[in-house]
Amino acid sequence: MGGKAGDRLLRVLVTGGAGFIGSHIVELLIESGHSPVVVDNLSSGRKENVPQGVRFYGVDLVDPSLAEVFARERPEVVIHQAAQVSVSRSVREPLHDAQVNVLGTLNLLEQCRAYGTRKVVFASTAAVYGDPVRLPVDEEHPIAPASPYGVAKRAVEEYLRIYRELYGLDYTALRYANVYGPRQDAHGEGGVVAIFTHRIVRGEPIELHGDGEQTRDLVHVRDVARANIQALDRGGGECINASRQSETSINELARFLGTLVGREVEVTRVAPRPGDIRRSVLSNEKALRLLGWRPEIGLAEGLAETVEYEIATATPA
Ligand code: NAD
Repeated sequence: MGGKAGDRLLRVLVTGGAGFIGSHIVELLIESGHSPVVVDNLSSGRKENVPQGVRFYGVDLVDPSLAEVFARERPEVVIHQAAQVSVSRSVREPLHDAQVNVLGTLNLLEQCRAYGTRKVVFASTAAVYGDPVRLPVDEEHPIAPASPYGVAKRAVEEYLRIYRELYGLDYTALRYANVYGPRQDAHGEGGVVAIFTHRIVRGEPIELHGDGEQTRDLVHVRDVARANIQALDRGGGECINASRQSETSINELARFLGTLVGREVEVTRVAPRPGDIRRSVLSNEKALRLLGWRPEIGLAEGLAETVEYEIATATPA
């Protein structure tokens, strides 16, 4: 059966498993026959996102009681999604960002070391590259994060490299492009698809920063979840992009969503966001080569599903 490490079922601990991407990973782990457990402090995640029957620990990453979870569960693999996810909050509160994203992760890695976890699959980000100097951005592209969030994610990649060297803890860091799909929070800042869909479905205007010709590489959350499953036993010691390698402008996205919802989209033009990246597209050639992964969900299909989900879950005004 595909997705199992050497056809063995694995005990997998998913941090952030009550969140957007983490909950899709938990579902796919179950489908693939593995046994996930979840650690999540519910700061942005929701308990309802965790499938019935999955053991849930409402523990903070930075808390010493994380050791008790490891003592009980002894995970073979940790899929680490929990994070302070807001780039703008990291700019306002770099210390808090580092407390969760660096020190919280170190607390987790120390538990992995103490309890003999074999591998960590880490949710890294395209933000480690900063403003691209060439496109598509491959993994050899210069690293120049433009926010404390990106610096912290990069720091974790380096800690992972050194933990592998010093303590033999294997890892794969997946550098996600812009992930979208059902269950994404529309009130956060990163999820342009979630924010637009939420507003368009309710007939509210959307805010477009600058000329709207800035581009993003939009990858569906189930494709990203599948990359995590593929990395359970592949891609050791590597940082690998998880992207669709396809550029979509914000204007195109707004038009597309308007068509899917079946209404004229009202657009409010606002000033460009300082530091906003103009074009973003990540190569996914390394993921194909090392993980045997390529995205399978096209934008039309993925957006249609996201719109349907939003309509189904929208509370009538
Ligand atoms: P999310 O906010 O839905 O998920 C994060 C989860 O982590 C939440 O359930 C939250 O409650 C939990 N969490 C936060 N701080 C915690 C703590 N201190 N202890 C325990 N749990 C904690 O966000 P997401 O979009 O699903 O992001 C998942 C991961 O992917 C994050 O590491 C994020 O940085 C990374 N990422 C996301 C994107 C994207 O486009 N969504 C892009 C690049 C990288």
